[in-house]
Amino acid sequence: MKILVLNCGSSSVKYQLWDTEGDGVLAKGMVQRIGIENPLLEHKRPDEDKIKIEPGGIIDHTKAIELIIEAVIDENYGVIGDISEIEAVGHRLVHGAEEFAGSTIVTDEALAAMKRCIPLAPLHNPANIKGIEACLSELPGVPQAGIFDTAFHQTMPKFSYLYGLPIELYEKHKIRRYGFHGTSHYYVANKAAELMGRPIEELKLITAHLGNGASIAAVDGGKSLDTSMGMTPLEGLMMGTRSGDMDPYVPLFIQMHEGLTPEETSNLLNKKSGVLGITGKYTDMRDVLEAEKTGDEAAILAIDMYCYRVKKYIGAYSAAMGGLDALVFTAGVGENSDEIRAKIVDGLSFMGIEIDAKLNYDAWGILLDISSPHATVRTICVPTDEEFVIAKETERLVNAL
Ligand code: ADP
Repeated sequence: MKILVLNCGSSSVKYQLWDTEGDGVLAKGMVQRIGIENPLLEHKRPDEDKIKIEPGGIIDHTKAIELIIEAVIDENYGVIGDISEIEAVGHRLVHGAEEFAGSTIVTDEALAAMKRCIPLAPLHNPANIKGIEACLSELPGVPQAGIFDTAFHQTMPKFSYLYGLPIELYEKHKIRRYGFHGTSHYYVANKAAELMGRPIEELKLITAHLGNGASIAAVDGGKSLDTSMGMTPLEGLMMGTRSGDMDPYVPLFIQMHEGLTPEETSNLLNKKSGVLGITGKYTDMRDVLEAEKTGDEAAILAIDMYCYRVKKYIGAYSAAMGGLDALVFTAGVGENSDEIRAKIVDGLSFMGIEIDAKLNYDAWGILLDISSPHATVRTICVPTDEEFVIAKETERLVNAL
C-alpha cells in the first residue's frame, strides 16, 4: 500500500512516502517556514541528492501538502505517476489524551475528539489538525489515520499516571501524566525483544529515547508502566532546550521574582532551558561534546547533568518493575553517541549493566547488543523508526475498513 506519512508541526511538515509492500520509503522530505517568508521544500529519494524547491510568498499547511504531492508526482524527481496512487495518509499526532488509547481512522467523530485534546497540547495539536484538514481538501476520499505519541502509554496504571494534586483537578481538566514518544518506545522495545529472541510479554525493559526531546519509559511485558514525560513533554529528563524535572514551585518563583507571564515562563522552560540553559549557547549534543573536549566547563556540567538524570531514571524504573532484562538506547543522541551511553551506564555494573567499549563504539545508528560478556542485563542500541510504525498502523486500519 502506498501511504503518505505526515508529521505536521506549526511551521513545518515532514513527510515520507511509503510503499509498505515494496521498497519501504520511496521519498522523504520536509516543508519548512510555513506561515513565514521564504518557505522551502526539501525532497529526497534514496541514493539521490536532495532537491530544494522555493515556492516564494507565504504558504499555509494546505499549500504545503499541495507542494509535497507535486514533488512526489513530479516527472523528474517524483516517485509515483499520479496522485491517485496515494492510497492512504498516516499522521503522527502528538496528544490523544484519554480519548485515544490506540490509533484511529480519521472520521468526523475522531476529529472532534482531537479538537477536545487541544487544551492539553495547545502548541502541537492545532498544527496536527491543520494537516488533517489540508489532506481532506488536497486528497479527498483518501482514508487518513492518526497515530498518537501518547497512545502507547495509555496502559500506565492510575498510581503511575496521577499527580499528587487534588483529585478534582484530574476529574475536571484531566491533569495527569500522558507521556510522549510512545510510537518510538513501542517500536524499540519490540525490536529489542526480537533481537533478544524472547517474547516481549516476559521482558522488563527500559527504553531511553534520547533526541533533542528526550524521554525514558519502563516497559513491563510490552506495556508502558511509566514514562518520564508528563501532561506535556516538559517533565522528566533534561533535554536540548527543556528543563525536565524540578521543584514545581520553581516556575511560580520565577514568575513572581522575574515578573514573567505564564506564556513567558512556558517559553523559558521549553525553549531556553535544559542543555541550552546550562551552556548558554548549545542545544545540539554534538556541539556540547565538542566543547567538552576543549575543557568548556559549562559543557562538562551539561553532560554530567544530562547523563545523571538518565541514570537516576534507570534506577527508579528498575525498582518500579522489580527487575530489568534490557536497557535500550534510541534517537539522535542514544543511537549515535558512544560517549553519552558510556557515561549513563558507568557505575551500573552493580545491577548487571555493563557494556563492551568496542561494541559501544561500533554502534553508530545500527541495531546492536553492546553488552559485555559479564552483563546480566542487556544494553541494546536500536535505531528508531516512528514512520515505519505509522505506515504499518495506517495500512492495518485501512485494510480493516
Ligand atoms: P528530535 O526528533 O527530537 O529532533 P533526534 O532524535 O533527531 O531528535 O535527535 C536530535 C539530536 O541528536 C540532536 O541534539 C543531535 O545533536 C543529536 N545527535 C545526532 N548525532 C549525534 C552524535 N553523533 N553524537 C551526539 N549527539 C548526536
